[in-house]
Amino acid sequence: MELAETFGLLADPTRLSIVIACMEVERSAGDIAEHVGVSPSLTSHHLRLLRSARILRSERRGKQMFYTMADACVHSVLNIMIDHLFFHDHDTVDDP
Ligand SMILES: [Zn+2]
Repeated sequence: MELAETFGLLADPTRLSIVIACMEVERSAGDIAEHVGVSPSLTSHHLRLLRSARILRSERRGKQMFYTMADACVHSVLNIMIDHLFFHDHDTVDDP
């Protein structure tokens, strides 16, 4: 099931860190590897999966590939989840 597979990809902490690293800025593969603290080869493995699941998209510029969120949908889903976990006060706010 494609939806479960998509969330499954995001359930891996390293992959999720890679996606979050690309949320607000476009990053090169090398920059992502450094930022997340994993080897370049493991990073490129994760990037391939994330790109084929249309979570991230890539663009070649010169010799480097740059990665960013595939579109506003994926960005919104993550932002909503982050808000829900860390910023919503569910004790005082009931039904929307
Ligand atoms: Zn919430």
